[in-house]
This record gives sequence, C-alpha cells and structure tokens, in this order.
Amino acid sequence: MSSTAGQVIRCRAAVAWEAGKPLVVEEIEVAPPKAMEVRVKILYTSLCHTDVYFWEAKGQTPVFPRIFGHEAGGVVESVGEGVTGLAPGDHVLPIFTGECGECAHCKSQESNMCDLLRINTDRGVMIGDGQSRFSINGKPIYHFLGTSTFSEYTVIHVGCLAKINPSAPLDKVCVVSCGISTGYGATVNVARPPKGSTVAVFGLGAVGLAAAEGARASGASRIIGVDLNPSRFEGAKKFGVNEFVNPADHKKPVQEVLAEMTNGGVDRSIECTGNINAMISAFECVHDGWGVAVLVGVPHKDAEFKTHPVNFLNERTLKGTFFGNYKPRSDIPGVVEKYMNKELELEKFITHSVTFSEINKAFDYMLQGVSLRCIIRMDG
Ligand code: NAD
Ligand code: ZN
Ligand code: ZN
Repeated sequence: MSSTAGQVIRCRAAVAWEAGKPLVVEEIEVAPPKAMEVRVKILYTSLCHTDVYFWEAKGQTPVFPRIFGHEAGGVVESVGEGVTGLAPGDHVLPIFTGECGECAHCKSQESNMCDLLRINTDRGVMIGDGQSRFSINGKPIYHFLGTSTFSEYTVIHVGCLAKINPSAPLDKVCVVSCGISTGYGATVNVARPPKGSTVAVFGLGAVGLAAAEGARASGASRIIGVDLNPSRFEGAKKFGVNEFVNPADHKKPVQEVLAEMTNGGVDRSIECTGNINAMISAFECVHDGWGVAVLVGVPHKDAEFKTHPVNFLNERTLKGTFFGNYKPRSDIPGVVEKYMNKELELEKFITHSVTFSEINKAFDYMLQGVSLRCIIRMDG
C-alpha cells in the first residue's frame, strides 16, 4: 500500500462552480475509497462532448459545483474494502458506465447496461453511501458519471475501471476510455455493416470518426461523412471517409440527398452529433428492407424523436448504444491490445495537448470545432 492509503489526499482539481463558466483549478480534499471503490491517480484525461453538454447545462440538468471528466488513464493509488482484481500500481481506464459482473445485463451477451453501474448523468455522489468523496474546506463537490477525471486523484467504483496492459502509453490509450470505443463499437458491435456496404456517419468529431474507422475495418466500400462543419472533411479522409455531405449545402432534407446518392438509402448509418434532427435524418436515410441506423449522440433532455411509423413498417431498424455496447471490464483491455498490435490507430484522433492549468483551452477547441481530442496532462 502507498503511504497515502487510508488518508485524505489534498490535490488539484478543475472545479466547475457554475454552468458555462470557466473551470477553476483548486486545491481539494479527496477522501479514501470506501467498500468496492478505488482511488486513482489520473495522469492524462481528455475532453469528450458529453462533458461540455453537462458543463453548459443548456439541455441537461445542472448539478454544481462539479468535477467533470470521464475519458482518462491513470494508476491505482489505493483500494477500498472488498476490492479484488485491482491493486495499487495497476494501470486503469475509468469508464462512465460500469460492469458489476453479477446482474442480468452483465450476464447477457447482448447488453452492457449494468443494473448497478449503468450511466447516470444526474447523480453526483457515490452509489455506496450517497456521499461525495470530494470537498473543499469540508464543502462537498459533486462527481460526474462516476469518474470525475479532471482531478489529480479521484474515487471510482471498481466496476467502472478497466485494468489494462501496463505497457500501453496512457497519454494515447486514455481516448479508448470513452469516445473511440464508443464510435468504433457502435459500428462493429451494433451497426455491423456487411462487407461492401455503404455507411453514413453523421458528425465527424472523434466519436464519428471512430465509427468511420469501424466501418472501414468492417470492409464498407462507401463511407459518407455528414457534418455541418466543412473543416472536418479534409481530416476525415484519414479515417476512411470517402464522400462528404454538408446538409447546409442542400435545400432538401439530407436524408433525401443521401437516398439519391445511394439508389434508395444507405445500408447503415451511425449518428454521432447529439442533434435530434440529425438523429431523425440518420434513421430516415437508411435503405428500406435492410437498413439499420444507430444513435450515439447524447440528446437534449427534452428531445423527442418523430418519424412516420411506415418508416419502420418498410423494414428499417433503429438502434442506440452507450459505449458502443462494450462491457468495460471484459472488453476494453482487448481494445487497448488492438492499439498495441497496431490494428487501431489512436494518434490521429489526438489533435491537441494542454497542461492541466490550461484545461479551459480544451473546452474552447471543442466549442470552436477545431479539435478531435485534446489531451490534458495532469502534471502540468
Ligand atoms: P464533437 O463535437 O467532437 O463532434 C460532433 C460533430 O457533429 C461536430 O463535427 C459537429 O460539427 C457535428 N454536428 C453537430 N450537429 C450536427 C448536425 N445537425 N448535422 C451534422 N453534423 C452535426 O463531439 P464528440 O466528442 O465526437 O461526440 C459526439 C456525440 O457523441 C456527442 O453527442 C456526445 O455526447 C456523444 N457521445 C455518446 C456516447 C455514448 O455512449 N452514446 C459516448 C461518447 C460521446
Ligand atoms: Zn464521452
Ligand atoms: Zn451488472
């Protein structure tokens, strides 16, 4: 055990005090892990658009003050009572949705929606005792997604930590902890495009480009990228996207444009924007008879999906996924191995890097649409 085990650790965290206001790097106290919890030293974290939505709190429930962050890599500092399978020094990726290993979902081959540890965006406390492990002068600061990786130390349920190969570089594989696994898995585990098929990807951020990478790995021959930001198109070529559509360039709905380009519709579509209209277009652009659409983007809390039921009668399928249907503890070590075996390139998703004290720059890059993933180095 390390010398800090069982003690409160004082360290730096980027605290969001109010919706949409720059994070403030503060000294906080991090309590020791309780039963089934692990305290993790975060070394690298990155920013996913889901953090930005909940920080902006325009279409999501405001929970403040809060420590955001859910895409990261770190090292176990100490473990709480009852934790098996993880020990100080282990390299881990925190995952926003967990795997208890015991429930009907964890036992099913078809689901990663663990009853105990599935994603809960509005909870700001640990599930064990309903308390926060973070405080400033005794005043609690809320958690986010059970991970809160914008802190030098964080406390996470053991079921939300994937133990990975210690030789994997954490400054690269941290992006496997959310965005890349989500997009890639949405294609290879959920949409499952047959070889030679046509796939549309809505939203060419890191999640969408990982979905495109999954389509290329599946042998898709046409990969059509749809984005309102044309500056995404050039870079997307590196991810196998070979045709582009900007909905703003057309008078008719983009689903009609895609249907015309593809003789009736695409075989598969994967939506990675979070925009409700893009979700509807992603469904309506798939070919009748066999087309499958997969929703990945996190919608506004009041969004409603409207389409004519005949679109379903005409044998189109609509699906959705969290985390690309991967089971975090069982499957994610294998995704890291894909990177180690050079079957999955991660470097091209990493467009920026900042020190922890510059964390607000990562938000600016994402809001300006110039970054894919920005790595935040906790030691800086
Ligand atoms: P990002 O901001 O980097 O990329 C989103 C892209 O979508 C941008 O290029 C943007 O220009 C484009 N876009 C926005 N509205 C559009 C529209 N109406 N039509 C076409 N393109 C549009 O974000 P990201 O980090 O890649 O995340 C993508 C989405 O996936 C977000 O909604 C995020 O919350 C969600 N997400 C879901 C899961 C999950 O498990 N389901 C996991 C991670 C992220
Ligand atoms: Zn994410
Ligand atoms: Zn479970």
